[in-house]
Amino acid sequence: MPSPLCSRLIPAYFPALSFMPTEDQIDLFSLGDVALTQASSDFNPDDIPTSARVPIPPGTYSSMEQMQAHCNQCFRCDLGKTRTHAVIGRGNPKAPIMIVGEGPGQNEDETGIAFVGKAGQLLDKILASVNLTEEDVFICNVVKCRPPGNRAPTKDEAEACKGYLLEQIRMVNPKIILLTGATALKGLLGITQGITKVRGQWIEQGDRLYMPIFHPAYLLRNPSREKGSPKWLMWQDIQAVRARLDELQAAGKV
Ligand code: SF4
Repeated sequence: MPSPLCSRLIPAYFPALSFMPTEDQIDLFSLGDVALTQASSDFNPDDIPTSARVPIPPGTYSSMEQMQAHCNQCFRCDLGKTRTHAVIGRGNPKAPIMIVGEGPGQNEDETGIAFVGKAGQLLDKILASVNLTEEDVFICNVVKCRPPGNRAPTKDEAEACKGYLLEQIRMVNPKIILLTGATALKGLLGITQGITKVRGQWIEQGDRLYMPIFHPAYLLRNPSREKGSPKWLMWQDIQAVRARLDELQAAGKV
């Protein structure tokens, strides 16, 4: 039986999905399953940072600061053993656009601020090129603690931290979510296709629009601006995002 949530996906927004294997299509809707996780009668929120087996039910947190306190004492995965600071995010906690990256790097771990290294600076420039500021976006990551050596987070680490990310999405309530890189795409929507195949495509799920985009760190490694290059493609994508936000604002939806 197909998931009832399937009807919420508009294929025209995401034609690449029609080529996805069945298993990937099922994974795509894992977001809804997790969001519906309910706490048992003996649920104690103070236990959340102690084990990934403790659920993070929707509505657990009323502010980013409250969640940050838990993340800074969290050992739901082993990344807690080596972090300096948990990195929750930066920007407007009521922004219409959320940007989800992979995980904190060294600068972020040291400062506790998201996307402050070279990749973050490039991201800010990309946003500024279409007049998007920190008022328009909230920027965060799939995992809140730095993976050693800047490796990609493992599946277990992403799963352990996913409840925090879902709470951030609930609190910010963005209309548009940009998934920067394959880890965010897989960690949030369960899509395992390469980012180069799906970037720039809109996915509608619930009342939100998702778009996979290149990670700015990838753009730093590919500086060409020629037509068809990653930077050129990012320019197309961010203009599409700006246009969609303008449409939503004109319609009074944000
Ligand atoms: S990465 Fe997330 S789940 Fe893992 S210790 Fe840090 S806050 Fe907890």
